Amino acid sequence: MPSHDSLRPASVAVTAGRPPRVQGGPVNPPVVLSSTYVSQGDPGSDLLYARIGTETWQPFEEALGRLEGATHPAVVFGSGMAAVAAALSLVPDGGVLVVPRHAYQVSLGYADDLAARHGVEVRRVDIAETDQVVAALDGADVALIESPTNPMLEVADLPALLDAARSRGVRTIVDNTFATPLGQNPLALGADVVLHSVTKYLAGHSDVVLGACVTNDPELDARLRAYRTLHGSIAGPMEVWLALRGLRTLALRVERAQANAVVLAERLAAHPAVAEVRHPSLPSDPGHERARTQMRGFGAIIGVRPVGGPAAADAVVAALRLWVPATSLGGVESTLERRRRFATESLTVPEDLLRMSVGIEDVEDLWADLAQALDRLL
Ligand SMILES: *Cc1c(COP(=O)(O)O)cnc(C)c1O
Repeated sequence: MPSHDSLRPASVAVTAGRPPRVQGGPVNPPVVLSSTYVSQGDPGSDLLYARIGTETWQPFEEALGRLEGATHPAVVFGSGMAAVAAALSLVPDGGVLVVPRHAYQVSLGYADDLAARHGVEVRRVDIAETDQVVAALDGADVALIESPTNPMLEVADLPALLDAARSRGVRTIVDNTFATPLGQNPLALGADVVLHSVTKYLAGHSDVVLGACVTNDPELDARLRAYRTLHGSIAGPMEVWLALRGLRTLALRVERAQANAVVLAERLAAHPAVAEVRHPSLPSDPGHERARTQMRGFGAIIGVRPVGGPAAADAVVAALRLWVPATSLGGVESTLERRRRFATESLTVPEDLLRMSVGIEDVEDLWADLAQALDRLL
């Protein structure tokens, strides 16, 4: 049997964070519902109080840390946004923060809040334009990177950006929600913090809201844990247990969803009622070459612009029967939405762009549903 450390990611997802193998012991960690722990005298490193640490977080934190190839377990938070807030606490008051112009909307909203309340200068860049990003890194304190971006699926040159940031003393945070730890491991490329909306692929069943940060830097790790304790942005034990259960099938789910997405992107691109398809698997996609050489897989989010503008896009959503009209992504079920239905979405995202999160259903059923909805536009 391969040693623990040489296991491949699909095996790590299944085996990490298990209780010790003892005769009669459970194969899964228990959910412990207790706000406090028996304790007197010097607490040392014992469990003390459930806002500080719980035995139900530990197995999930260990599994995600190992999947990201980190030297430390992950730090789990009550939502992806709580993880974003913790990571962005690295930006000093009056500091400079570089963000992608297309990124998770609420992360960009948080950056705007830092600008309004803490005098932070926020520089928005096209994350796919490496020269533009590198120029913006000059004099910056922190860069928040997403790749592929939400919802435009731009692909960043991560090794180049992380090198440039490091040589300029800029701290880097990579939101790895879309790629998952199976697609890329930014810590290995020198990122300071990797964060996840665990709500999405990691938990994978649209039944919990959770987040996590991971770092290789002991000081940052301690700082993120202290932030969680100070802000109380903690996860409930049930949710973390469900996320660990979801994580066990991560490789199967992501492989299937990505394979479905490759087929659907190609068929969508050939459909006469489709004006544009964005998915890095397509040779015509601007991010194709970078994704092909730097990522494992192309992700399972597709951007589609039907012919006929926003009304046509809304009509497609309304005509679907299998695809679920809903925000969020990364669940086993396929969902989609027109992003610009939100007034807060970036104005450079086309009004008619549908963001599709491809699930693990049979691809022929997914295509049949899409085809009947698109055919109505002709
Ligand atoms: C959903 C999402 C978040 C926020 O996570 P929540 O769990 O919803 O708080 C952050 N980044 C990306 C890329 C996301 O998709």
